[in-house]
Amino acid sequence: MSAVLSVRDACRRYPGGVMALDHVNLDIDAHELVAIVGPSGSGKSTLLSLMGTLDRPTSGTVELAGHDVATLTDRRLSALRGRWLGFVFQQFHLTDGLTAIENVATGLLYAGVPRRRRRPLAEAALERVGLAHRTGHRPSELSGGERQRVAIARAIVNEPALLLADEPTGALDTATGRAVLELFHRLHREGSTIAIITHDREIAAELPRRVEVRDGRIVSDSR
Ligand code: ADP
Repeated sequence: MSAVLSVRDACRRYPGGVMALDHVNLDIDAHELVAIVGPSGSGKSTLLSLMGTLDRPTSGTVELAGHDVATLTDRRLSALRGRWLGFVFQQFHLTDGLTAIENVATGLLYAGVPRRRRRPLAEAALERVGLAHRTGHRPSELSGGERQRVAIARAIVNEPALLLADEPTGALDTATGRAVLELFHRLHREGSTIAIITHDREIAAELPRRVEVRDGRIVSDSR
């Protein structure tokens, strides 16, 4: 099976000398649900930035859908990102002035989808996350869990090859966080490929594959 994402021998050294990632190897295949788990400062965000093609390794390679990220121009790279990746963040990052459906439709801006097709696709994505009844609400009119669902709808609306979630339950209470995790499980059952970054070992323990990061190295992979 070919990997959706392949990180090969990647190092990331920050100016000043911090070796945030130290020879990391990670393959994610289609239809996997992976936890990337580690304590604060272990290198998870740095790894996520490489996986999301938002940053490049100092050495080593990152391949997304068979494309070596280093060989692409910024323009090709944002096109690839818009088409292949979806992002979910701890703090949702929704636009306050837009309704739920408008927020979700922004997930199609860089995916080359014509304007008239964006709304129906956004509506379908909101339905998938259980928010068909909230399409016209603005973020300020939604609960934390609902906001995260809108953000997830935005991330899946272009049917990305890989969904990257950075501490997606970090800003939610336990029960709401559980429900959001259950949604990720359902999306996974429906075929999505998902990587969830977390410092929470309990969350990680519930996911089928766990990759443990410590001091910039992958110290275990349950695969
Ligand atoms: P985590 O997400 O697991 O908390 P990070 O990837 O944010 O870990 O950080 C890994 C290491 O790299 C830490 O030692 C952190 O201080 C350092 N680091 C992260 N970002 C930068 C940066 N922009 N410049 C310098 N050092 C950084």
